[in-house]
Amino acid sequence: MLMKKKFFTVLKNDKKTIARIGKLSTDHGDIDTPFFSVVGTSATVRTLSSEEILETDTQLVLANTYHLHLRPNEKVIKKLGGLSKFMNLNLPTMTDSGGFQAMSLGAGREHGIGKIGFFPNGKKLENTEDRSLVNITESGIEFRSHHDGSRHFFSPEISMQIQSDLGADIIFAFDECTSPLHNFEYTKKSMERTHRWAVRSLESYNKKQKIYGIIQGGVFKDLRLISAKFIDKLNFDGIAIGGALGDTKDSKNEITEYIVSNLSNKKPRHMLGIGDVDDIFEAVERGIDSLDCVWFTRLARRNMYFIYPEDGGNKINRWRKNIRSVKLILENPLSEYCKCNICSNYSATYIKHLVVANEMLGMRLITYHNIFFVNNLMKQIRESIQNSKFLELKSYWYGK
Ligand SMILES: [Zn+2]
Repeated sequence: MLMKKKFFTVLKNDKKTIARIGKLSTDHGDIDTPFFSVVGTSATVRTLSSEEILETDTQLVLANTYHLHLRPNEKVIKKLGGLSKFMNLNLPTMTDSGGFQAMSLGAGREHGIGKIGFFPNGKKLENTEDRSLVNITESGIEFRSHHDGSRHFFSPEISMQIQSDLGADIIFAFDECTSPLHNFEYTKKSMERTHRWAVRSLESYNKKQKIYGIIQGGVFKDLRLISAKFIDKLNFDGIAIGGALGDTKDSKNEITEYIVSNLSNKKPRHMLGIGDVDDIFEAVERGIDSLDCVWFTRLARRNMYFIYPEDGGNKINRWRKNIRSVKLILENPLSEYCKCNICSNYSATYIKHLVVANEMLGMRLITYHNIFFVNNLMKQIRESIQNSKFLELKSYWYGK
């Protein structure tokens, strides 16, 4: 009889914080934690080939259920052997549940806010169930395609079926992600529905993939406590923290700390949709094992490249520069310190020329470097926990 591999193993806990290193075992290979999930929304990390994704030391790619359902559809991907095969990418993959679209296509888009939003005049939203682009009921979420306006419906059962067909190693329970503008009553109502959807997701998923439950509850500590306890005690393989965590980075850290302190230590913890350099340090310090964010790839397409402390990167300059506005020394790479193939072979002057001339290659080379950068940052973090020097590494990066 084949021994079933344990999904998550904690290898070492940091002594001064609750940061930890561990290992996730999937059918497509092991993943060292903490790690960064590189976002490949439509089964592509925009501008990079799958060979290049491997070169950047990426450990896992996160794709989007909503986008892949609309185009090319999960049945096509299933016929071609599942997400990894479809992408010609020999790496573990994750798919989100599609529930986030309730926010990004509904309240989020209408109010122009993200997860860390401001509260104009302290005004809160009461209800966003019935909006022009989404309609949320107990059975699920009806939404309109952003491509052609056609109507679609996701329920926990449908999301599980789509994610089963997509065939990622790790999937997420179906949830509604509330906005920071939602008031207490709506956030509570939505959270309770998300809990019922979590149970329905567990009952209907294929039992072969690894599934993470999602904690909601917005910026309200008492709701977060209820949600953390509820999701933690269900039979999920991992726990994800979703939704709005507050209007400042401090409140985000405080809520993260509070949630994690109410979770058991055995399951891996993922933070959804968060991840600038300092967000990564703060989350790992508070016991988060993985994160995902479009930040490093999106900024690459806005001419921003990341730099290490050795290049002068710190909390003030946000570890990045705009290639259009930097004064370059003729032959220097983007980063003197970086060991990526771009920095080893291309001058920043050439990349700036490409960007200024609107050549696509410029964007591509910066994307490659930025992804290598965040994967290297995670590697440094793992080594620092191994050597009991996590806080020292953090101070060094922050420039203190
Ligand atoms: Zn580089």
